[in-house]
Amino acid sequence: MIKKELIQKIMVKPGKKVDLKDYETGWAQNDDLKKAGEGVVKEAALRILEHNRQALAASQELLWANGIHSVLIVLQGMDTAGKDGTIRHVMSGVNPQGCRVTGFKVPSSEELGHNFLWRHSKALPSRGEIGIFNRSYYEDVLVVMVHPEILDAQRLPSAKRGDKFWERRYDDINSFERHLDANGTLILKFFLHISKEEQKRRLMDRLKDKEKYWKVSPADLKERGFWDDYISAYNAMLSKTSTKWAPWYIIPADYKWAARALIADVITGKIEDMDLSYPKVSDAQIEELKKAKTQLKNEK
Ligand code: AMP
Ligand code: MG
Repeated sequence: MIKKELIQKIMVKPGKKVDLKDYETGWAQNDDLKKAGEGVVKEAALRILEHNRQALAASQELLWANGIHSVLIVLQGMDTAGKDGTIRHVMSGVNPQGCRVTGFKVPSSEELGHNFLWRHSKALPSRGEIGIFNRSYYEDVLVVMVHPEILDAQRLPSAKRGDKFWERRYDDINSFERHLDANGTLILKFFLHISKEEQKRRLMDRLKDKEKYWKVSPADLKERGFWDDYISAYNAMLSKTSTKWAPWYIIPADYKWAARALIADVITGKIEDMDLSYPKVSDAQIEELKKAKTQLKNEK
């Protein structure tokens, strides 16, 4: 288990004004870790990931049997931040029947015919399920804020797009999430925080290897040119939408092993905190089951 202080450090307290400059992207998050050294920390992180993978599989079964709550995991981050790899590694032990992953790309024309939360509402996990959003409605206050011309395609009634417009979107998101929380959904939101240098390394790495070309799109390189605008949009979004019912975790993501261990630890810790139990079987049901058992035994 990762120390509570470290988890507290990366959780955005509701109302806090976030400046991503104050958050590290590397593995050396505090003096204890620095003293231990990269090798030791990495080894511990891999053990934590493995432990949590198993714990998560057990928690998921309980979540499913309990059938009241659901879990929504939201992943955001710049291109190459490691969203796909995190899903693959953290969720690898989980029964695919109780888990659904949805990636959100540029909206289709059908999706643009509705409000911005519509396509996400349709993809929400049902009771007992874990749902993962690989990108989410947060794109509507990130990429859309960086490129406001996208709003023209959204066919909105009001032409005004000042601060109030964005405040309204943050409010909509907070209310949406509060509604989900009140209806039994545990919401966990992770921002995978990488440095600009690390993104360059990852893009270069992909461009060195023909088999990795498919992972890079010219759009990623173009978006990199808007890095500072994205950071501003992220700062505003993280400051406005970390709530008691759906807090943000800023995950240092330059080292994939560190990011995965932290995310896995938060997810399992939070599901365990829900204190779920298997549904109670009534005395009448026990009697029925006993009868069925006898019947099975006596079958010819
Ligand atoms: P990827 O995650 O690499 O498959 O890329 C998906 C792309 O879709 C990213 O560039 C996102 O910024 C973009 N995207 C996701 N949601 C929206 C949205 N609501 N409006 C415009 N672009 C979006
Ligand atoms: Mg991409």
